[in-house]
Amino acid sequence: MAKKFNQPLRMCVSCRVRDTQINLFRLQCLESQLSLFRGNGRSFYICKICLKDEKKVLKAFMRQCKSSDRDKFSNILKEIITDDRKS
Ligand SMILES: [Zn+2]
Repeated sequence: MAKKFNQPLRMCVSCRVRDTQINLFRLQCLESQLSLFRGNGRSFYICKICLKDEKKVLKAFMRQCKSSDRDKFSNILKEIITDDRKS
């Protein structure tokens, strides 16, 4: 079977690079709480490269969640990265 190249592209909110959904993390913000996307609400995407750049990605999180609690996002970011290593 031929590989499909017509997958929809999503944009990383941090660096604005477009990629397929598999290469991006889908996250969401509910009442300023950041988490992995769980199926409802507004979501956004972050690429794996940006996830490794903590300063940059925290800025994007704060913008998306309209919150400036850097420490909180920093902790959540660590959880997300740990989760990814498990799977
Ligand atoms: Zn990015």
